Amino acid sequence: MMKAAVFVEPGRIELTDKPIPDVGPNDALVRITTTTICGTDVHILKGEYPVARGLTIGHEPVGVIEKLGSAVTGYEEGQRVIAGAICPNFNSYAAQDGNPSQDGSYLVPSGRCGCHGYKATAGWRFGNMIDGTQAEYVLVPDAQANLAPVPDGLTDEQVLMCPDIMSTGFKGAENANIKIGDTVVVFAQGPIGLCATAGARMLGATTVIAVDGNDHRLGISKKMGADITLNFKTCDVVDEVMRLTGGRGADSAIEALGTQATFESALRVLKPGGTLSSLGVYSTDLTIPVSAFAAGLGDHRINTALCPGGKERMRRLLAVVESGRVDLGVLVTHHYKLDDIVAAYDLFSHQRDGVLKVAIKPA
Ligand SMILES: [Zn+2]
Repeated sequence: MMKAAVFVEPGRIELTDKPIPDVGPNDALVRITTTTICGTDVHILKGEYPVARGLTIGHEPVGVIEKLGSAVTGYEEGQRVIAGAICPNFNSYAAQDGNPSQDGSYLVPSGRCGCHGYKATAGWRFGNMIDGTQAEYVLVPDAQANLAPVPDGLTDEQVLMCPDIMSTGFKGAENANIKIGDTVVVFAQGPIGLCATAGARMLGATTVIAVDGNDHRLGISKKMGADITLNFKTCDVVDEVMRLTGGRGADSAIEALGTQATFESALRVLKPGGTLSSLGVYSTDLTIPVSAFAAGLGDHRINTALCPGGKERMRRLLAVVESGRVDLGVLVTHHYKLDDIVAAYDLFSHQRDGVLKVAIKPA
């Protein structure tokens, strides 16, 4: 048996005992050494994003291969690995069509949530469709396509952002069509927004403007590569971006929260032809005001993204960490034992004590 944090009912995630899963030919059993809690897990806890009762939550694994399926080659038991939060099987038409994180079934029947009896899943499996990582062990499906070895010398904390936060945040920057010398505005500086800020700078933006309502987080934005920080509680962000750009508007804006207000502001700061790169997970319908949209004449682009997964994506992100270009270890602000995960959820969901990400360790 193993310990696992499972969804019981809205408002309750609890630690329980579950059997250690059997390993099929294409699977790998990974012993978790460190995992973490994502904002999406808090939506699950609150019942805002529905999952099956008894499902193990969590989608950010760092661990050691305990047992390999008979068909999985090129890895060794005992090897340190990560796997992306989205573990594609690369078999769906959507994956074959060039969108590996998608499995083509992003609306599955569900009794809850605001999307007409369906919920969006895209290709996200860990802690959503199958048992997740907040446990002593996780079964990684399609392991051959998804396991990425952790380079020697990197700590669990240094690579803990790779499976989701860094992959998603960097995708936000990659989707923003950034050119050298660009001005990019990043709305919301939670862990994903902070990674988008770092990614925008790495891609060549020379004016990265980070927006949040929390001065502590804006301080970290500077460390992650923001040139200018704006607190939306003390200024009009759209006016300020227009002033900073001499009235031109930003080349692109990255939305990293998932609300009408941030989406609309991201649209309003854009130059003609600018790109809005959306990362947020929205739980209500969005409205696009005619004025923010130049009545459809603005040549704007709107891109959306789900966290890219797969071993090659993970290898690249690990290479970024290994290069020292960015230090994401600073996002890990708190440590908990798996035994104390309920307390970790409480701290994280209320954003107490300057928390950004919590490292959860089973041992
Ligand atoms: Zn997540």
